[in-house]
Amino acid sequence: MVPVRTNIANGKETCLWCDNCGTLLLGRRCSKCGSTGREFEINSPGDIRPCMGDSVRILEDLLEEAFGTAIPIKGCSVFFNKVPGEDRTDEIIAYGNVIGVLRFDIASDRLRVELRQAGAERGDPVGTKNIGRSFGVSGHLKGKSVPGENVSEVIGTFSSEDPIIVRKGLKMGPGIAMADSDKMKSAEKALRIRDLNTLSGITICPNAGRDVFVECNRGHLEKLENTAVNEVRSYVKGKTQPVTVSFSGGKDSLAAYGIAAKAVKSPELLFTNTGLEFPETLEYVERFVRNRRLVLHTAQAGNAFKDNVDTFGPPAKDFRWCCKVCKLGPISELISRNYPKGTITCEGNRSLESFTRAGTELVTRNPFVPNQINLNPVRNWCAAEIWGYIWMKGLEYNPLYERDFERIGCYLCASCLASEWRNTARIHPEMYQDWESYLHAYAERNGLPPEYIDMGFWRWKVLPPKMRQLADGLELKMEPRGGNGLSMKLMKGASVCVAGGYSMEAIATVPRNRDFAYVEDALRTVGDVKYSSEFEIAMVRMKTGKARLFGGGQVSVTAEDAAGAERTFEKAVKALIRAELCTQCGICAKTCPRKAIRIKGGMKVDPERCTSCGKCESACMVVHYYDKIMSGKTLPAPEACAMPSAQKTQTSERRDGFRGGNGRRPQGGRSQNRGGGQPQRSGGNRNGGRDAAHGGRDGSRGPRNQGGGRPQNRGGHGQSSRGNGRNGQSGQQPRGGGSRPRL
Ligand code: SF4
Ligand code: SF4
Ligand SMILES: [Zn+2]
Repeated sequence: MVPVRTNIANGKETCLWCDNCGTLLLGRRCSKCGSTGREFEINSPGDIRPCMGDSVRILEDLLEEAFGTAIPIKGCSVFFNKVPGEDRTDEIIAYGNVIGVLRFDIASDRLRVELRQAGAERGDPVGTKNIGRSFGVSGHLKGKSVPGENVSEVIGTFSSEDPIIVRKGLKMGPGIAMADSDKMKSAEKALRIRDLNTLSGITICPNAGRDVFVECNRGHLEKLENTAVNEVRSYVKGKTQPVTVSFSGGKDSLAAYGIAAKAVKSPELLFTNTGLEFPETLEYVERFVRNRRLVLHTAQAGNAFKDNVDTFGPPAKDFRWCCKVCKLGPISELISRNYPKGTITCEGNRSLESFTRAGTELVTRNPFVPNQINLNPVRNWCAAEIWGYIWMKGLEYNPLYERDFERIGCYLCASCLASEWRNTARIHPEMYQDWESYLHAYAERNGLPPEYIDMGFWRWKVLPPKMRQLADGLELKMEPRGGNGLSMKLMKGASVCVAGGYSMEAIATVPRNRDFAYVEDALRTVGDVKYSSEFEIAMVRMKTGKARLFGGGQVSVTAEDAAGAERTFEKAVKALIRAELCTQCGICAKTCPRKAIRIKGGMKVDPERCTSCGKCESACMVVHYYDKIMSGKTLPAPEACAMPSAQKTQTSERRDGFRGGNGRRPQGGRSQNRGGGQPQRSGGNRNGGRDAAHGGRDGSRGPRNQGGGRPQNRGGHGQSSRGNGRNGQSGQQPRGGGSRPRL
């Protein structure tokens, strides 16, 4: 999309709407009527997307429930714009205005709709409930509460905290009830005014569907396509590697396929079956490939997740071992097997997806998949452009997008929002229940309270401050039994490696006191480092050998001789210990002759200055923990190696009902609530009154409703409270804080 303006200070994007045609303009002119559109503002970053399928019905139901009418959006072109919030938070755009916000309220375990001024103006003449008239208050009323004695009329039956439309004289606007409707007039605080204005005269434009949206934006979409296709063609020109498409079953990779298929002849598709896919995704990928007679290579993670989950515990937002085990491992194997001379892979990565993807370039490389060059032709597209393109090209997309999923990934992804997890419960209750049961069993055998699961604490290794505060307030002990001490499980001491030389492997358990990214800095002091934050892997090359460290604690070393392997291992583990247990004493910074170290939440090392002389390590006290953990190491049989390969994994018997398959279950689940009906609480979970305290996408989700159970799910729009956010910030550790190791 071409934002007309971006106002960084206000965090706003200016977009265009065609009032003649009734839809969003992605370019600067409507391809259908020629209009240059009317400007309107949305919040940044502006990854606007169409509201479609179940989402439309859910939104209509919420408006009906709240105001007795869905007229404000009926038949018109509606878009969502994802904005920061504690869980799902979407601005609702209709008639070229932000008419409201749809948010998942964790405390009440349900989706709620709030109006904005334009929505109140549109809903006021047609609404039949949740309306209050006030009088006798004056001055600047925005954000103010109104006492019951100033409420003259209450229309409809509603509850405290429900959205309402407030009328006052000739002005009106959105508000929130602060008392139940029958008690409003006598309440000390009856309602809060969010906004109050005279009518601005919203332009009621014609109804518009997908066809109109595509028609109005055809010129812009074709231009986008041409640019992307030319980029791909220019890059691959003269290169010998075959072009492939990383096809995940999601919309972005579908658009990337569209570009690749136009740019080159018959690109092959690469798909990773993590074993945690929705059945719809597997069926869709198969169907897509079959219908288009494409070549598909599938990397199978098999039981990798199931086989590792007991060792590593549930994946967390700050400990995504599953990405490495279920995605990176299988896809690297597939590429080295099928493309020994490498491949150029078109991917659907987009800058607007997350902070970690912001600023994505056309060409990127993953140091851990050396045979692959990634091209990102849709990196600068917004979600509405992706959809416009998919519709314009008639590309079949994953049907889950019609089921109120904004993004599609593994069904039990620790990074999903509470609302998404609730949506999984709605569509696949048996898959939801499976994982839920596993989590409870995991908590039980690790001496963790049920709240560890019920309140979503399992989604972090290190709780963000507000979650920690909540746990402390409830006097919950959140440390797994014996899980936060230091220990070393040596899988294989320095021994001859089949690939030549010597290797050594271990799992080092070191408390996660801060982000794993600090390992990159600590490792700089011992050698050259490559680091992937996405997969939490660091590789270091030293004079004595090479080491790989994984977020899960695995350490793997190769060297020319046994002494080299042991020396490399020691240096790597000491770096891990420094990274996580650094007390920020600053001694190393003072010791460094090159002034390469600064202390900022932990030890940070300037790679331009550091010569890997090792003086700072000698000065550091915390590295002495290395001797302690090595003195207590255990040495199981070498074949028990749990290094992260889909094929090379430790297994252990399930002690619970988790099947962990990829969802190809008998009658796997489309059976319930198909018609866009509202999500239901899954039965049988252990949380009769689950509280809400879950990580938000900003990582600062605060506790709510600490004391008691949740309110009933009145509207049936409830979604489960598990939760968390998505953009990686939420996993940030409290810098410099955190618990010290118990030794
Ligand atoms: S010397 Fe102090 S500041 Fe430096 S890494 Fe060790 S504990 Fe951290
Ligand atoms: S003392 Fe300074 S130069 Fe030497 S390894 Fe440490 S950070 Fe690098
Ligand atoms: Zn138009």
